[in-house]
Amino acid sequence: MKCSKEKHGLYLHIPFCRSKCKYCHFYSENISNSGEDFYIYLEGLQKEVEYFRQYNFKFETLYVGGGTPNALEPNQLALILSIVHEKLELSDVIEKSIELNPEFVDVNLLNLLIKFGFNRISLGVQSFVDTELEFLGRNHNSKKVYEAYNLIKKYNFKNVNIDLIFAFSGQTTESFEYSLWKACELDPTHISTYTMTFEKPAKENLENKNETITINMIRVRDKILAKYGFLRYEISNFAKKGYECMHNMKYWLRQYYVGLGPSASGFSIDGDKEFRYTNPTSIQLYAKGIRDIEILSEEQKLMEEIFLNIRTRYGWKTERNFITIALSKFQGLLRAKNNALILTDDGLLVADQLALKILELYEDYKKGIEI
Ligand code: SF4
Repeated sequence: MKCSKEKHGLYLHIPFCRSKCKYCHFYSENISNSGEDFYIYLEGLQKEVEYFRQYNFKFETLYVGGGTPNALEPNQLALILSIVHEKLELSDVIEKSIELNPEFVDVNLLNLLIKFGFNRISLGVQSFVDTELEFLGRNHNSKKVYEAYNLIKKYNFKNVNIDLIFAFSGQTTESFEYSLWKACELDPTHISTYTMTFEKPAKENLENKNETITINMIRVRDKILAKYGFLRYEISNFAKKGYECMHNMKYWLRQYYVGLGPSASGFSIDGDKEFRYTNPTSIQLYAKGIRDIEILSEEQKLMEEIFLNIRTRYGWKTERNFITIALSKFQGLLRAKNNALILTDDGLLVADQLALKILELYEDYKKGIEI
């Protein structure tokens, strides 16, 4: 599935959860305290949608994430979705995705999603091992995952992603392997596998610090997913043919998107100036219409292009001469195809460090510095 540069993606952040998972760094408020927060959020969303309406953007994808969109009652979620669908031009949207927590999947929710035309569900499974789910602070168990998944399939959603987390403390390669097998047996169209991240020092230390184990897990994952016909199209994302997530591809291919909701960010163009913006991580500040905007310099654009494009299986398109130089400099970490530099399996393990080195090398190359 190819996404087009001319149309924007639309991300909608729903900043509510029913409890906070130990590892999470996404912005969300506890739903039980959110009677008032919910209405402040709605007010902010109305304003933001009105603001973007004037641009008459055509949207190609809608991705509803959070937080936990289905931590809300279906009537609350319906209110939010109505605002977006009534005020923005979504008739060209091809892919409508929503993140769901297995704990709160029921018939009312699925009927609502069908009514709004959702055709892709991303299920936050994380693990099929109950003790691991407990360790991560998740409230669902594997039984709940099967119930949710079966109901989703019964409602004929064909395009379903399963999210898994790996490389956390106490997890073994065998238990990760078990979760991968179980995920594959459900026959989803897409599997995302994320490693534990620690962006804030206050978070509990949940990371598996043994690099050898993590690398082993990555190798095992790649083998199992390939065996089941999943193609890796981004460092952490695997899909059956034709089921790449169009919305996320827009991020990695550096296409434009609007982000709605607190903590959401967007990327677009005004005249010939590309800019990124970020909304505040506070419902109250968000409702006041505050956002940070940054106009991108040529250096920033190049850096983003390399860092984002190189994550995908299409790689970073560049000049032939430079490809030859980069291949000889970073032997074993890069390969070339269709005038693009693409990460090898070893390159994937050091993607960000390598992207930085490619950028430095490219800058020297452009300045004519002998390499
Ligand atoms: S449910 Fe998702 S968004 Fe909410 S705290 Fe857990 S990981 Fe974070």
